[in-house]
Amino acid sequence: MRCLVTGAGGFIGGHLVRRLLSDGHEVVGADIKNLGGWWQSSKGCRQFPEHDLRLADHVNHLPWPFDRVYNLACDMGGIGFIEQNKADCMVSVLINTNLLRAAVQHEVKRYFYSSSACVYHAERQDGSCIVGGCSLTEDDAYFNGGAMPEDGYGWEKLFSERMCRHFHEDHGLETRVGRFHNIYGPQGSWCDGREKAPAAMCRKIAGAKVTGRDSIDVWGDGSQLRSYCWIDDCVEGIIRLTESGFHEPVNIGSSELVSVNDLVSIVEEAAGYPVRREYLTNMPQGVKGRNSDNTLVRQVLGWSPQTSLQEGIVKTYPWIEQRVMGRNSN
Ligand code: NAD
Repeated sequence: MRCLVTGAGGFIGGHLVRRLLSDGHEVVGADIKNLGGWWQSSKGCRQFPEHDLRLADHVNHLPWPFDRVYNLACDMGGIGFIEQNKADCMVSVLINTNLLRAAVQHEVKRYFYSSSACVYHAERQDGSCIVGGCSLTEDDAYFNGGAMPEDGYGWEKLFSERMCRHFHEDHGLETRVGRFHNIYGPQGSWCDGREKAPAAMCRKIAGAKVTGRDSIDVWGDGSQLRSYCWIDDCVEGIIRLTESGFHEPVNIGSSELVSVNDLVSIVEEAAGYPVRREYLTNMPQGVKGRNSDNTLVRQVLGWSPQTSLQEGIVKTYPWIEQRVMGRNSN
């Protein structure tokens, strides 16, 4: 099949390109970054760097038509980034708008959109959930008759999800929506201000280890609850969902709920380097608790992410440690 991956220079897009190529597909990748900034540059992928997909001209310049479009392009990052860049995050709505319109025009057979757990209603993640395990089912995006996603990035994701729904209903486009919960792994942001908690913890502990420091800072009090999903599980979920007949949003996340303190302990173990934790309670820390309820994904795809956080961190940590060592030897 002929596949377009947008955001191909990014973390998840780069891994998806590699998987689609190894499955024997023809792959075109597009990204706003120049090629030097792509996390992976897979041989065999026809690359379209410096394409700002907020601009319809740049979208139209791609070699349409495609059998599959996977839209992973978005101006985003971890909690520190999205809280400081709400307007820029929201403008990513133009990427999805241009791509949906082109997909209809060129009769694309399947269109995948990468949404986020940030669409979920704030009141479903305020701490009252903790007794119930913080699991979010797909219905929890709307609560008491309304929506209250993360302000900025989360609204953009929820709005773009709705666009996918209406492009399906009004234009017959086969849209699929995956709601990602904290995806992590190598070959993604780790020190550019867009990194998420797993990469940030690996970097901080590697930094302490390399320089002999005995402490790291942790945003919040360490009790925030999250689940983290290994990148290969995410890619498997994207492909399975795209090929399924289901066009409502589906969680793609791990259901292994851990605290930020647990995450630090797992990274310490992978590094073989215990640290003291200095809690910065005035830094952004996001919602109190959030987990992926995987009932629907199991029903729809007969599958759910299975890689434990410990297994995934063991594969992620060395990639980041190597880069930290490189930086320190310069
Ligand atoms: P990433 O930042 O590594 O990749 C996104 C890519 O999109 C980047 O390479 C960026 O240059 C590109 N991009 C941004 N604006 C663009 C534009 N105007 N035109 C073309 N390309 C543009 O992020 P990621 O972690 O790979 O995320 C991929 C998708 O998954 C995004 O939609 C993101 O919102 C979603 N998501 C990711 C996570 C996660 O934990 N990583 C969680 C929830 C949702």
